[in-house]
Amino acid sequence: MNRTFSIIKPDATKRNITGSINKIIEDNNLIIVAQKRLKLSKEKAEGFYAVHKDKPFFNDLIEYMTSGPVIVQVLEGDNAVENYRKIMGATNPDNAEKGTIRKEHALNIQENSVHGSDSITNAEIEINYFFEENEIISN
Ligand code: ATP
Ligand code: MG
Repeated sequence: MNRTFSIIKPDATKRNITGSINKIIEDNNLIIVAQKRLKLSKEKAEGFYAVHKDKPFFNDLIEYMTSGPVIVQVLEGDNAVENYRKIMGATNPDNAEKGTIRKEHALNIQENSVHGSDSITNAEIEINYFFEENEIISN
């Protein structure tokens, strides 16, 4: 059992498909143990994606991630980090497997509907970036 961090990105909140995305998450045995809807500030988004600050797509990424509401969530389950990455599908939806969130819902490589932590260490860092421990309620 472990936890991972998830963001439902602005392309998905704008299209009102957050329930469809969370159905895929719940159908795959991940439990949403914390959740909030917020608008990322430029500073908060830049801090979150600091690892990408030298990438050519960084400025566009920050503009997109601050363009509308996001839903930040903590997911809990067996092998949560690995399981959720698999359910999300490849970064570019053209390369994502059928049935994954990105294959079913993403618009393109940038507007790809969801974020998921890529390691247990990063999951802990990212969860702490958005949530206090007392906001996370396991079943
Ligand atoms: P995430 O970190 O959001 O879960 P990821 O780990 O699959 O996605 P990263 O390589 O960490 O992908 O990229 C972070 C985000 O930056 C992507 O999800 C996407 O929104 C955007 N991005 C990545 N590569 C590109 C690109 N080549 N062009 C435009 N946007 C990109
Ligand atoms: Mg990533």
